[in-house]
Amino acid sequence: MAGMTSAVPPPNAPRPARPACDHCLALAADSRRREPHARLALKHTAPLVSRSAAGVPFSMLTFTCRECGTVWRLYDRANELFVSWVPECPLAPRGPAAPGGVADRIK
Ligand SMILES: [Zn+2]
Repeated sequence: MAGMTSAVPPPNAPRPARPACDHCLALAADSRRREPHARLALKHTAPLVSRSAAGVPFSMLTFTCRECGTVWRLYDRANELFVSWVPECPLAPRGPAAPGGVADRIK
């Protein structure tokens, strides 16, 4: 009989490092631009306003990527021309360079 289902890993298996989508990888490569990419959703409407250890005021906005789930923080310091995008966790690029995991199961 045809139509046997092949073995599929359970969807809720833990994935320690989710591969970042192309939008997030591009943002990581150009982290000083002001524009969020198209998949980012703002988590809080009001920016967190604070002051760095050196006394420089800055604001921070938190975004979540709707495609890969990466959480980004956008820091905007008062006297700086550029902003900085900082991912909450290090991005995991896709491809053969990914450390550990799935490749070990392939014979
Ligand atoms: Zn993403």
